[in-house]
Amino acid sequence: MPGTEPGTAQIGVTGLAVMGRNLARNFARHGYTVAVHNRSNSKTQSLVADHGHEGTFVASESMADFVASLERPRKVVIMVKAGGPTDAVIQELIPLLEQGDIVIDAGNAHFPDTIRRENELKAHGLHFVGSGVSGGEEGALNGPSIMPGGSRESYTTLGPILEDISAKVDGVPCCTYIGPDGAGHFVKMVHNGIEYADMQLIAEAYDLLKQGLGASAAEIGQIFADWNTGDLESFLIEITADVLAHVDAATGQAFVDVIEDRAEQKGTGRWTVQNALDLGVPITGIAEATFARALSGSVPQRTAAVGVLPAHTADWDVKDRDAFIEDVRLALYASKVVAYSQGFDQIAAASAEFGWDIDRGAMARIWRGGCIIRARFLNRITEAYERNPQLPLLLADEYFTGAVGNGVAAWRRIVAGAAQNGVPVPAFSSSLAYYDGVRAERLPANLIQAQRDFFGAHTYRRVDRAGTFHTEWTGDRTETAQ
Ligand code: NAP
Repeated sequence: MPGTEPGTAQIGVTGLAVMGRNLARNFARHGYTVAVHNRSNSKTQSLVADHGHEGTFVASESMADFVASLERPRKVVIMVKAGGPTDAVIQELIPLLEQGDIVIDAGNAHFPDTIRRENELKAHGLHFVGSGVSGGEEGALNGPSIMPGGSRESYTTLGPILEDISAKVDGVPCCTYIGPDGAGHFVKMVHNGIEYADMQLIAEAYDLLKQGLGASAAEIGQIFADWNTGDLESFLIEITADVLAHVDAATGQAFVDVIEDRAEQKGTGRWTVQNALDLGVPITGIAEATFARALSGSVPQRTAAVGVLPAHTADWDVKDRDAFIEDVRLALYASKVVAYSQGFDQIAAASAEFGWDIDRGAMARIWRGGCIIRARFLNRITEAYERNPQLPLLLADEYFTGAVGNGVAAWRRIVAGAAQNGVPVPAFSSSLAYYDGVRAERLPANLIQAQRDFFGAHTYRRVDRAGTFHTEWTGDRTETAQ
């Protein structure tokens, strides 16, 4: 096998399940000498046996040999099951590495773990790069979207290699330095949260077309295929059209009609919502998408409710099929912009909280290719943040104000129609509620402040005077400045 002399591999990958294996092949196909290692040696052997001809791999059975096969500063990519296994591999690596070496965790780590690990490795003189990698096994092999955090210094050495193997859109790599410590994994987490919202919105659009038009899966698939030629063009719309057109070989029925309606999750959506609660950022689209998956899996509750809870709905009488389809398309686009706007708000809030200085336009740029939420309209987001890097609300950018404003009437018709006809559209309706909330000149939070002051003396501010006030609700109702 070529390149087996110690210290020649430019990058190493430990953890060779689907993601690590394909990432290692991607490095090799780009001409890098890749050190490879896996806890069970059989995976290492099969990688070299099946794909050794694709480039130069240096296979090691032990972690010590793996580390020794790397040139310095060593660059070790960990691609193992997130959580305890990542810590176990790091502990194994620490005594084998030397000052200035770079450890890259490319798994789906929770960003607080990344912050902790970075601190620990810094104390050993090691760089730790928590990096999001999106695109699944296909992306890992052919070009993922890569979101590396950690020190800028480590990016100088590592960045060019990661950019090289990342997806390219218009010749621009879908990889950039994100920010210190947990920034990369944080951005990957929000990416996944947005993915939840996008998928839920598409599912709601499918349900609206099914229930509003009585359309078949194949017909709806064709509608999605048409949508994929316009503003909604994206990987998720494309695969939706493909999935809806697919026929189940066993039954001859539409494939989607034989799949159980219980959505599962691995946890990144939940983390995104938990963090948004901590930061106080309303990401209603992502939250509703996460809860919608939970509701779909609430079997005892659903069993108790189906056929029991009264609906009081009429049959949905859609008079103009084409107009209805266009309404759903406009409502989907507007709701999607809200979900992204909220996700970018969350990134801005975390960036301020943790001192990450994340460039939001660059995030949209590196999500244009390789990742699951890749979409045409991400260009528009990058342009919006180029126009104003401090943009407080994506929806307030001139392009999005126009694009969403254009569809507001349709959005209202669809959400109202869904409510009247008993079709659950939590992401569509919460996005519209957010839109109306954020644009309202006055919200009913004045009453909440008064209630809080009444039962808890929590004080309030007045519209006509500066300062904080409290009213003696149980006494003579005099007001005092606090
Ligand atoms: P995985 O199923 O999450 O993990 C399997 C790998 O982890 C195997 O190489 C396994 O080694 C290793 N491992 C487990 N426990 C270990 C331990 N205690 N010590 C050392 N190694 C251990 O693999 P994956 O699906 O390829 O994902 C890898 C990472 O990428 C995960 O963090 C995942 O969340 C992330 N990710 C996955 C996707 C995807 O589409 N699958 C997309 C983006 C990110 P053995 O072979 O010895 O068991």
